[in-house]
Amino acid sequence: MIAILLGPPGVGKGTQASLAAQANGWQHLSTGDLLREEVAAGSALGKQADEFMSRGDLVPDELMLEMVAGRIAQVADDEVLLLDGFPRTLPQAEALAAKASSGAVRLSLYFTAPDSVLTARLMGRGRADDTEQVIAHRLTVYRETTAPLERYYREQGILVEIDADRDIPEIQAEMTRVVEQALGQTHNQ
Ligand code: AMP
Repeated sequence: MIAILLGPPGVGKGTQASLAAQANGWQHLSTGDLLREEVAAGSALGKQADEFMSRGDLVPDELMLEMVAGRIAQVADDEVLLLDGFPRTLPQAEALAAKASSGAVRLSLYFTAPDSVLTARLMGRGRADDTEQVIAHRLTVYRETTAPLERYYREQGILVEIDADRDIPEIQAEMTRVVEQALGQTHNQ
């Protein structure tokens, strides 16, 4: 089963995904982490991606799809793949639906928190693309391009909203419960 983690930058998706993956033996695929590894390694992909990332823009869909295609096509029914940072555009969501095996995308966890909380968290994180100007741009890009995915998954009936303006363990407990419930539905089919 594939569970998509949706929500604005700074909402804590990455933190929650890695905690949940470690605690439950789930897979965690963070496209942001993969891209940062490519940039650090100085690969051709990293060099291409870097200019978009440092501005707070999205890396083009074709590059992203090339990067994740292999992984999303092979997810066993009884394993959980947490997708963190992908999809971020409607074409990415449609490509995911086409590439994943039928019924694999069963859940979209939509993390929410007030803008003031997001900005404070991002400013405190100290990543290279966490300057005030780039953060503001990333939030705009999110609202214009990624936020519409909320409706896309809500209409499919697989969206579950998670209030991410709470303590980490509280959010983690709710997320784990929701993923396990969706996994149970997979098994019972
Ligand atoms: P993140 O760590 O998820 O905040 O991602 C950091 C940066 O990587 C983003 O600001 C984008 O430039 C790029 N990125 C990560 N995932 C994607 C994606 N699915 N589509 C396009 N760009 C992405």
